[in-house]
Amino acid sequence: MLLLVHTVAGAVIGTSVANPMAGFAIGFVGHLLLDWIPHWNYDIPRKMSIGEFIRFWPDWATSPLIYLSFIALNPSEWISITSAVIGMLLPDLLTLTRYSQTLGKLFGRFRTFHEAIQREVRFTMGIAIQAAFIFIILGVYIYLY
Ligand SMILES: [Zn+2]
Repeated sequence: MLLLVHTVAGAVIGTSVANPMAGFAIGFVGHLLLDWIPHWNYDIPRKMSIGEFIRFWPDWATSPLIYLSFIALNPSEWISITSAVIGMLLPDLLTLTRYSQTLGKLFGRFRTFHEAIQREVRFTMGIAIQAAFIFIILGVYIYLY
């Protein structure tokens, strides 16, 4: 799934779970559950062209904004929000270990598992599903808080 979806879900988990370690664990497992939902995603190449950077940039730019917005709205819960977002993003960050020989071997099995659970669909449907998920999870957040 997109970085943005994982960030929104992690931030909502972080505001709901007071224990940072629990938030991290729920975020990590939650990432894997979200990747199981049919979605569209992009691969991060080792070397990126300007065109790829421009295409991926909205996902990278909005995620920190969402994270910082949740921190601004819930400053006393910044540790829980941060740990849940890190837990949520870690599985995708670990996919980048394929570009390192040492780390690539260390996390090879995890990357194979992570790739096996992906349920990717075409762009329009994949984006629509993720947009709907963001609206639902933000709706639940607004309703609860
Ligand atoms: Zn993933």
